Amino acid sequence: MERRRRAVVVGAGMGGLAAACDLARGGYAVTVVEREGRAGGKVRREVVAGRAFDAGPTVFTMRAVFEALFQDAGADFDAAVTTRPAELLARHAWPDGSRLDLFADRARTADAIAAFAGPAEARAWEAFLAQAAVIHGEVEGPFIHGPRPTVASLIAARGVGLFGSLRRIDSFRTMWAALGKRFRDPRLQQLFGRYATYCGSSPFLAPATLNLIAFVEQQGVWLVDGGIGALADAVAGLATSLGVDLRFGEDAAAVLGDRRATGVRLASGEELTADVVVVNAGQGMLAGDHLGPTARRAAPGAPARSLSALTACAVARADGFPLAFHNVFFSPDYPAEFAALFGQSRYPSDPTVYVCAQDRDGFQPVPVGAERLFILINAPPTGDTAADAAQIDVAWQTAEATLARAGLRLDVEDRRLTTPADFADRFRGTGGGLYGPPTHGWRASLARPDVRTRLPGLYLAGGEVHPGAGVPMATLSGRLAAATALADAP
Ligand SMILES: Cc1cc2nc3c(=O)[nH]c(=O)nc-3n(C[C@H](O)[C@H](O)[C@H](O)COP(=O)(O)OP(=O)(O)OC[C@H]3O[C@@H](n4cnc5c(N)ncnc54)[C@H](O)[C@@H]3O)c2cc1C
Repeated sequence: MERRRRAVVVGAGMGGLAAACDLARGGYAVTVVEREGRAGGKVRREVVAGRAFDAGPTVFTMRAVFEALFQDAGADFDAAVTTRPAELLARHAWPDGSRLDLFADRARTADAIAAFAGPAEARAWEAFLAQAAVIHGEVEGPFIHGPRPTVASLIAARGVGLFGSLRRIDSFRTMWAALGKRFRDPRLQQLFGRYATYCGSSPFLAPATLNLIAFVEQQGVWLVDGGIGALADAVAGLATSLGVDLRFGEDAAAVLGDRRATGVRLASGEELTADVVVVNAGQGMLAGDHLGPTARRAAPGAPARSLSALTACAVARADGFPLAFHNVFFSPDYPAEFAALFGQSRYPSDPTVYVCAQDRDGFQPVPVGAERLFILINAPPTGDTAADAAQIDVAWQTAEATLARAGLRLDVEDRRLTTPADFADRFRGTGGGLYGPPTHGWRASLARPDVRTRLPGLYLAGGEVHPGAGVPMATLSGRLAAATALADAP
């Protein structure tokens, strides 16, 4: 009787879990080894003062990605998680006291922008969204749902139309430049420029192609009952139902093999043999020698790093500002903020601060008194250098100053910080960079690391590789890694 093929997946983040599901459906006996005690990776829960926080992403987009993952496995996404579309996408505040809410309802947003910046800017926003839809239509096939394209594959697919296509996706100017042309009000340029940070990038360096994120967001932002950790639990449950063996608290120490990957050695010394190994991480992990010499040879080197973050899970009484679920408090000087983060690898003196008021998701009444606030500022990916620790206290004080300027006073009862060094320790070889290489320059999407490595049998999956960062994109990456491994199987 033919031996059943085996796969080992290192890491139970969204990409690792998705790869495990599809490899199991493809007939493999799949073992997932995960260092932490539960699934999710960056989709992480923290308990502070007895209250559970979402300490990574708090919402998800591209719902169809998860529906398809479940449907392909003969399961029902809606039966596995309770979700609700966010009506208010985010509340934005500027140092001058002005505020703007964006809504899922397009007409409401247009009215809000008209009241905020005038009817011409509301029309500019409509035109901006229309262009973002065109960009999305162009890139969805080749850049999001397919294998990583190359210049050669695009030329083969588009021929002489390629140059026109690259112009249509607005890849030859930066987001910042395109937004400056689109909007007269610099606050709107700043608001939509911030979307570059969703993939750890700078709006001053990212191609305007990333403006498609505004369109994706308009298609639906989803809240999860019980927090987004419940989404990771649901995908882990799907994997288990498909026969995947999920082993928590197991650290992979090395990829085995010489001319091809033949398994994984755990830190305990146990060796798991495999025909296919999927590592739920990026090239930085391989190149940084965190998985032994065989893995190191499989990567050409560590790529550039995207943004890290300094986050706080705070139980606090909030006063002086009408918090929504998602709140963004902008810095007065965006160019200076990104020059500090990317140019000088230091924290900005005036950071933009994101606050997720997690008790205001509408699934339960807002508590009287102290509430759960998840607070985030962007940080340089320098979690593996000594200088990083010295900057943390000052960085946190600057974040509090940004909030205070907008009138938000916090009486913090308990708080836990997560620093770039903590992220660097959890996601090795990254320095705490959370999104793989930044999307900078027009070729960035073509240069993203592929799911297939140089070593036969070894694949990468997750937000650090093609097609990109974020909960749905990492899931797509895992599916692509599995499909590639299945197609490569001799
Ligand atoms: C603070 C924060 C906010 C974010 N906000 C958003 C957002 O709003 N929207 C959005 O879409 N995305 C957001 N993201 C990004 C999103 O969470 C990630 O892109 C995505 O979850 C990454 O998934 P992944 O598949 O790359 O796996 P990861 O989440 O990177 O998980 C990898 C897993 O591998 C495990 N592992 C690594 N090495 C080993 C080893 N040697 N042995 C065993 N296990 C190992 C790790 O413990 C981890 O569990 C955010 C991320 C963070 C941190």
